[in-house]
Amino acid sequence: MRATRATRALAALYAARPEAALSESEVETALAAAGAQVNKVTVYRMLDRFAAAGLLHKQVDAARVTRFALASAVGDGAAPRFECDDCHRQFRLSQGSAKVQTALKQVLQALATAGHESLAVDIAVRGRCAGCAHPGQGAPA
Ligand SMILES: [Zn+2]
Repeated sequence: MRATRATRALAALYAARPEAALSESEVETALAAAGAQVNKVTVYRMLDRFAAAGLLHKQVDAARVTRFALASAVGDGAAPRFECDDCHRQFRLSQGSAKVQTALKQVLQALATAGHESLAVDIAVRGRCAGCAHPGQGAPA
């Protein structure tokens, strides 16, 4: 992968926000703020390249917006996440994640024992994020 300025900025963006699941427009805005002005097509191309390289995990939220999260944070593909119904931002849930993973592993193991293959789990909690529920208190960026 060629380390262009935009690619480095994209890597830095995810390094700074490892929990984030970002849409193309969010990435485009963040890159522009970091001084790497790139168009939509280039952003999509970079995100797809990162995803193809296994660095990012592609997911579609309830509003059918494609989002990209760090693959290393996804783990077994069973990382629970929280999605805000108002602003559609996604937050990875790290608290209690280990317990969920352990419980899921047992479920998956039982299914695998029964002969089922290629199992994928997607856990999403829906609601309103702190920024939308309490707009006066300064939403986290
Ligand atoms: Zn929100």
